[in-house]
Amino acid sequence: MASYLYCDVSLPVPLDQPFTYSLPETLRHRVQPGSRLVVPFGPRKLTGVILRCHDDAPAVPVRDALRLIDSSPVLDQELLALGRWIAGYYCAPLGDVLRGMLPLASEIRQGKLWSLTDSGRDAARQLVLDTAPDDPVVQVLRMLEKRPLSAAYIAKKLPLAEKAIKSLERKGFLIVEQVQTERDPLRAPSDRLRVEIAAEAPSDLKLNKPERELRAFLELHPGSHNLKELEGTVRNASLAARSLARKRVVTLQAETLAISAGPIRTGHLLNPAQQDAYERIAGAIRAKRFQTFLLHGVTGSGKTEVYLNCIEAAIAEGKSALLLVPEIALTPAMAGQFFSRFGDRVAILHSAFTDVERSDQWRRIRSGAASVVVGTRSGVFAPVRDLGLIVVDEEHDGSYKQEETPRYNGRDVAIVRAQAANACVILGSATPSLESRYNAEREKYTLIELPGRIEARPMPSVELIDMRQEFLETRQQATFSRKLIEAIGLRLEQGEQTIVLLNRRGFSSFVACRSCGERVNCCNCSLTLTYHKRDRRLLCHCCSYAEKVPVRCPKCQSEHIYFLGLGSEKVEEELHHAFPTARIARLDRDTVTGKRHYETILNDFREGNYDILVGTQMIAKGHDIPNVTLVGVVSADIGLGMPDFRAAERTFQLLTQVAGRAGRGNVPGIVLIQTINPDHYAIRMAAAQDYPAFYQKELHFRRMMHYPPFSAMANVLVRAEKKEMAMRMSSELGMLLTPPPEKLKILGPAEAPVPRLKNEYRYQFLVKAASRKALNELLQQVRAFALQHKWGATALVIDVDPLSLM
Ligand code: ADP
Ligand code: ZN
Ligand code: ZN
Repeated sequence: MASYLYCDVSLPVPLDQPFTYSLPETLRHRVQPGSRLVVPFGPRKLTGVILRCHDDAPAVPVRDALRLIDSSPVLDQELLALGRWIAGYYCAPLGDVLRGMLPLASEIRQGKLWSLTDSGRDAARQLVLDTAPDDPVVQVLRMLEKRPLSAAYIAKKLPLAEKAIKSLERKGFLIVEQVQTERDPLRAPSDRLRVEIAAEAPSDLKLNKPERELRAFLELHPGSHNLKELEGTVRNASLAARSLARKRVVTLQAETLAISAGPIRTGHLLNPAQQDAYERIAGAIRAKRFQTFLLHGVTGSGKTEVYLNCIEAAIAEGKSALLLVPEIALTPAMAGQFFSRFGDRVAILHSAFTDVERSDQWRRIRSGAASVVVGTRSGVFAPVRDLGLIVVDEEHDGSYKQEETPRYNGRDVAIVRAQAANACVILGSATPSLESRYNAEREKYTLIELPGRIEARPMPSVELIDMRQEFLETRQQATFSRKLIEAIGLRLEQGEQTIVLLNRRGFSSFVACRSCGERVNCCNCSLTLTYHKRDRRLLCHCCSYAEKVPVRCPKCQSEHIYFLGLGSEKVEEELHHAFPTARIARLDRDTVTGKRHYETILNDFREGNYDILVGTQMIAKGHDIPNVTLVGVVSADIGLGMPDFRAAERTFQLLTQVAGRAGRGNVPGIVLIQTINPDHYAIRMAAAQDYPAFYQKELHFRRMMHYPPFSAMANVLVRAEKKEMAMRMSSELGMLLTPPPEKLKILGPAEAPVPRLKNEYRYQFLVKAASRKALNELLQQVRAFALQHKWGATALVIDVDPLSLM
């Protein structure tokens, strides 16, 4: 095997360049690009990924690498190249990108351990004679004399330690080591843990009341119990179990996730539209040529069956296939469907798996034992062999975009990966993103349509309820219209189920007119102004334009200006009031604590244990529940008020998707949409389920305003703890960006829509570019500027192709 003297390593640090290390004798034969290596970096040890092994002596002296983690690469050449592309395109440090692509990243927790240097040891020895034992500096030295400790531990024992540590570090007495520890199993969520009395439980310990209660229960009921289920029986079971485990009275063990793999079954016989789609895609798979298909099929048109057949075609060619699904859609039920079709050739990358299970799946994929992979966003990095096909289901879904560095979009990365591998891509949706449909129109993608539902089931009939009219007639600011209440009552009588969607996004509220439905827009950006409670102003988050909340509606002079923003809790309450005997379940971010919980509620609903399901966007996706014959949308308008140029598109997608939940069984479904903007094109066209009309209209708006797909866009966010600091930094950056280079338009700096988050003040720039290249050059310049001015590692956020402008 080859032997090398040096290697270049990518490290997760903001300085975006590889670092060269010399290789000690023991490592020279073993290093390979794509393996992880532990190296010294300043006073720390870091884990990086080897990019290149060579014998080119560097001009400056370099340090020795410490330890090789992987004997064979965890990232192959193809994935390393994909990582480089992501780093370049999304302007993210390569080290961060590679770390995010690594399979077992979540297995290990990064921590810092402080320990004494030799001179620190000397100093500690001399301190024996010192007369100030209370001095935190002295205490820190004493503590570390015994063994290395984490900063958190020191801080817990010694409240003033932070300053002392800093000054000791400056003097060269301490070094910090980046360590990777196995995740503490006690930190797993309760629904994944089983608890049991330990074999040799100490009996002489002082226990608090919940601990005593739990021990008593476990003694009475021997065997292991699911912790989550215990919570219903024993008060504070979860907390008590964790503290008892630390005292070794009980043992906690992670449960394996059961995926029921039914018998292998063959699929449905494809209908003609499905068959045609399948043949066209399978042809490209067999020809082994890169091609991206946009499979645009209405809700209930049987897209999944097409995916399954195409995956089979890829396997028949000796290739493997990747299926990406939105975060919330990857349930064990869904995974079970794949198992029953492909048996043990399937690997599932599910975030509810334990770390051991996940790395197990990863190894099966890499070894080639699993050739069908189902996963969420990061599944796009699965180390499959001979990639033949990537399917991106619900390609318009926002969860494909990672909202932390590197801010990549899994759908777009999938296309780049497939291109490099000469593989095919299927983007599937009933409501394709404007970008994708536009790409299909320009023949960058191949459009395939499934225009009708399976077995010619009718599309649900949709009716708009004008809440302005309702208000005029009832003179009451009601949440539910009389018509929706009546329709729900009828479903209850008939034993059919109802879904009530509350369209609510994020934090924002805005003002609207009760009488005419008008929202107040920015005169520069055509975006809805956001209401700021503090100073009762309406603000544009794009350009900072501000105005007072009008007393009268600017359009119809009515005084019934009101503020929108309604909680699902309140909606549930009102439903209980109207239907005291109905069984109502609620699903939103507040009620759903774990994936399991989400599924339990959905399953119970599917099995008919509830009559009504109330929820936010979460309930709009993918579920196939035959007994749902009514979908009510309480406030269709709220999404339209988001300060975001995609507001109309999101509203259209959401309404179309949720309407698609109705009437998937034998009884046709109806959809009632309450709105104060019945004339808004997004609402009108969602009601008509007319995607082409919406697309044309929205495309026109985007073209006029130079929004994507007619420009490339990026959001540059500047964050700092102190407001003055954030303002100063953003205005310095503003100076760099004025005047903007050719082909670029820069809006800002403006206060971000969430002006303060997690203790940081935020300002942002929105960059629209006529050329992708010009945009990238500018962003690289911005990064260089931040590095040069020594901005903190988190001060600058660059978001290319942002989905959320928050
Ligand atoms: P979509 O994802 O396009 O909304 P699904 O893939 O969920 O639609 O399909 C809707 C339903 O139709 C599912 O229950 C599926 O099992 C069924 N189905 C799909 N294809 C066929 C077919 N060719 N014949 C009969 N039923 C089918
Ligand atoms: Zn009005
Ligand atoms: Zn504006």
